[in-house]
Amino acid sequence: MRPQVLIVEDEPSLVELLSYNLERAGFAVAVARDGDEALLAVREKRPDVVLLDWMLPYVSGIEICRRMRRDSETRGVPVIMLTARGEEGDRVRGLDAGADDYITKPFSPGELVARVRAVLRRSRPSFDEEGLRYADIIMDLAARRVTRGDAMVPLGPTEFRLLRFFMEHPGRVFSREQLLDNVWGRDAYIEPRTVDVHIRRLRKAMNVDELPDLIRTVRSAGYALDVSEVA
Ligand code: CA
Repeated sequence: MRPQVLIVEDEPSLVELLSYNLERAGFAVAVARDGDEALLAVREKRPDVVLLDWMLPYVSGIEICRRMRRDSETRGVPVIMLTARGEEGDRVRGLDAGADDYITKPFSPGELVARVRAVLRRSRPSFDEEGLRYADIIMDLAARRVTRGDAMVPLGPTEFRLLRFFMEHPGRVFSREQLLDNVWGRDAYIEPRTVDVHIRRLRKAMNVDELPDLIRTVRSAGYALDVSEVA
């Protein structure tokens, strides 16, 4: 699955330049042209990284970033701010608003792609595709083997896919419908309740020996694999 970048920019020539270079580097690209479109796209398309221009019509990039960080569903999505301003104060303001990185225009396509990759590697450890690691969980994708600490975790095929999806997006909350779409596929005719059954099995398999529960249930929102709230 190619990682998806959401470009939020109102200038068509820049959108074209960014899309061209990102697609060539192996990313899938989605585009939003203002704040409303951006917030909608972040929720619906679930991008792996958002490339967010500071100067946008109606709502500024920095305000979009703040709103994303306030919403539990979009909080974990990495953001790279894109701007013509190069002053230290702006950089600090951008990072204060919750941006993960910052690129000043003009930039080279090589620099842009390198920054996107770096942010992805931090947020999505699966990016190198050999195996996945999060907290004390290790998923060996080739051997199809999961361990937690020193213990083997036996998983059925659905629980394995479910865990893999969570490990690829740690800390992010997904609704039952989003999990159905991403883990079972859009064409599967399965009730959202089925997700709860498999989450329960996954929990039972993972939480051996009194280990803390790493799957967080978010009321009326869904589930996340999240170590941050484990004491
Ligand atoms: Ca702009």
